[in-house]
Amino acid sequence: MTSPTDPADRPLVVVTGASSGIGAATARALAADGWHPVLGARRQDRLAEIADEVGGTALPLDVTDAGSVEEFARRVRELGTARGLVNNAGGAKGTEKVLEADEEHWRWMWESNVLGTLRVTKALLPDLIASGDGHIVTITSIAGLEVYDGGSGYTSAKHAEGALHRTLRGELLGEPVRLTEIAPGAVETEFALVRFDGDQERADKVYAGITPLTADDVAATVAFVMSRPPHVNIDTVVLKPRDQATGMRFHRT
Ligand code: NAP
Repeated sequence: MTSPTDPADRPLVVVTGASSGIGAATARALAADGWHPVLGARRQDRLAEIADEVGGTALPLDVTDAGSVEEFARRVRELGTARGLVNNAGGAKGTEKVLEADEEHWRWMWESNVLGTLRVTKALLPDLIASGDGHIVTITSIAGLEVYDGGSGYTSAKHAEGALHRTLRGELLGEPVRLTEIAPGAVETEFALVRFDGDQERADKVYAGITPLTADDVAATVAFVMSRPPHVNIDTVVLKPRDQATGMRFHRT
């Protein structure tokens, strides 16, 4: 009898930013679908708890640190050959207009969303190809498809992350690797709390009077695209709450 937690028996999928929100929900959904999730993030206590719950593996990861990504990839390789990668780590900081742009906020957003996705993808790509049926899912945002006032640091980072991801669709043509970009609208997670530096009242206002998406809604979409047969590549999925038309336009009750 094989152990359900033995990575050798289940395909390996790496989920970055799996200590909360969409990443944690994705680790749960993919584990339920028979994957062995390798969860990466900085907050180890939370990661370990989720990994235990789903029979996955928690590994420390700071996507803004090249050495951390290298060590993470080395430890993933000890578990086996990754077949899936969900680039999810990232987020937003602040809502300053261009005139008041905060370079530290910009650096944080570009380092975590853009360069972080680049570093992890680069490190694991040889394994994904070698697996013979690799799949890269990148969680961008509707902020990667449009711009809004006060959002330039985040929208520019998500546009760049999307461009990086979509470039691979051409560069990897002929390789056994699928690429799916998932671009959500408003999802109720710790995202707004991080954006507003822990200000819960401000964060709550983002979701006031609407029914936002949940992390599970996005995770179910990740699980769906990853469970299609190998010849089916779902390129892009845009999902928003019914109450949201654009990044700035909501129906609030
Ligand atoms: P969240 O609850 O704040 O989760 C963000 C995750 O990213 C956390 O697990 C965090 O873990 C991780 N992370 C941040 N910086 C990291 C770093 N340097 N190294 C490793 N991990 C890092 O927010 P979320 O909504 O689930 O966000 C997940 C993704 O969805 C992000 O890319 C976000 O831009 C995108 N998104 C969110 C929404 C939304 O409305 N919520 C909409 C569209 C797209 P640690 O802090 O433990 O490292």
